[in-house]
Amino acid sequence: MVRPLAILCRMIAAIAFAMNVAAAAQAQDKPLLVETSIDGRLFGHIPYLEADPASLVDAPAGFAVGHECKLQAVVIPDLTRLIAAAQAAHLGAELRGVSCFRSIAYQERVFCEAHGRHNRCVDPEARAISSAPPGHSEHATGYALDFGARPEGHCADVEDCFADTPVGQWLLANAPDYGFELSFPRGNAQGVTWEPWHWRWVGTSNSEPGALAARALFAEARARFPANPRIPTIIVRVIAQPPLPTPAVSELAAAPAPLPPSP
Ligand SMILES: [Zn+2]
Repeated sequence: MVRPLAILCRMIAAIAFAMNVAAAAQAQDKPLLVETSIDGRLFGHIPYLEADPASLVDAPAGFAVGHECKLQAVVIPDLTRLIAAAQAAHLGAELRGVSCFRSIAYQERVFCEAHGRHNRCVDPEARAISSAPPGHSEHATGYALDFGARPEGHCADVEDCFADTPVGQWLLANAPDYGFELSFPRGNAQGVTWEPWHWRWVGTSNSEPGALAARALFAEARARFPANPRIPTIIVRVIAQPPLPTPAVSELAAAPAPLPPSP
């Protein structure tokens, strides 16, 4: 259960970030483009609250690249199966986790390091094409992660070329069988860059533990900007053909008599 105070703190952090970006834009005499749209999105990104830390656990040992990888506990069984299946596929590289849960505070550093690489705060609107603003990242939910491969080979982490690597190709073909779908497919209507490394977990079916909560959280994204590959929200199974209606006796009696055989 998420505590109301914690939710309030996270909302304040997200609002404070938006105000900072607004101030930065004004200081540069840029048009003020930081107001959220009527549906609550900021630069196209849907708002998400930060996960309750108590619901997060470590990913399987050896999965994280360089640092910890925390995810919602309900994700771990499918992730464990996914890792084992990738290993059994002998892809020539290991499936690894480059980035998992990210707090809103950490996302702010990722999104907007004033003195970091590319001076990202100069143009937050441009930056938002490839990174979610704080308070608007799927990573904050604990259900999303960035996959990578080790060894990296010729493709660095979080680059488009990941889709062409054996691990990237295998994910595109198999990850939905383990409850993962690609949040930002190529040419998505949300206006976010194609991210073949970024997958969110929604479970393989509604009945899987935790799946309904994850699907509720991503309901807007899934309805308006479907993942690809994606996991169908409703799975209809035809168990048996329903019996065909039989005509009533009165209808049979009223039916015209068959014509006599022609000579
Ligand atoms: Zn990501």
